[in-house]
Amino acid sequence: MRVAIISDIHANRHALEAVLGDIAGSSVDEIWCLGDLVGYGAEPDACVELARDQTVICLAGNHDLAVAGETPLADFSGAAGAAVRWTRQVMTHENIEYIATLSPSGAREDIGLFHGSPREPVWEYVLSAALADLCLDAQEHRVCLVGHSHVALSFDRGGGEPATGELRPAGSGVAIGGGEWLLNPGSVGQPRDGDPRAAWMLLDLDGETARFNRCEYDIAGAADAIRAADLPASMAERLEHGQ
Ligand code: ZN
Repeated sequence: MRVAIISDIHANRHALEAVLGDIAGSSVDEIWCLGDLVGYGAEPDACVELARDQTVICLAGNHDLAVAGETPLADFSGAAGAAVRWTRQVMTHENIEYIATLSPSGAREDIGLFHGSPREPVWEYVLSAALADLCLDAQEHRVCLVGHSHVALSFDRGGGEPATGELRPAGSGVAIGGGEWLLNPGSVGQPRDGDPRAAWMLLDLDGETARFNRCEYDIAGAADAIRAADLPASMAERLEHGQ
């Protein structure tokens, strides 16, 4: 089975449509989403509807939970909080109800799925090997997927050694047939690893490999939509830099 993993779409329709186009040409069987459909970007309804239609499992991220009223707004910094308030005002009732049904953790095909981390599914950022070690101790599945940090990376551990981690640039792949793994596909709609292209990951469950992909999209179009919506301009600028 071949699975496309997407995460952290953040209401960026331009990026999501480009990634879904890439995925459509990659003969995958399923699409799984690790959450944060909304927040930051200008087209939350379109992104929620695409995710609902095209994924077989979709998690909730911290921004989704805030828009659904399940996480206090006080937990969000200035610009992120402003985006959550804006999103609540513009989204359809039906789409807010849909994201309220989503959970920040799940499992499918013996793979653990978390928005944040296996220890703390909503908020924890797994960006260091030391923290990955604690998550690998906590996780019930040999291979787990996380989002939230918007950085494409992998951590693995085997043979009694401590975990090690690597940033995963476009086109890199890992063989996941042995050891314990934590993989982050990167972000569709707001990459923060210096590569502004939209990120997704192809997981081949039979071949036991993961491949990290990036795809070009209309960044200027997404940035213009953010400015036109009167969302904080910093949300538009960061798309161009992948930060
Ligand atoms: Zn996010």
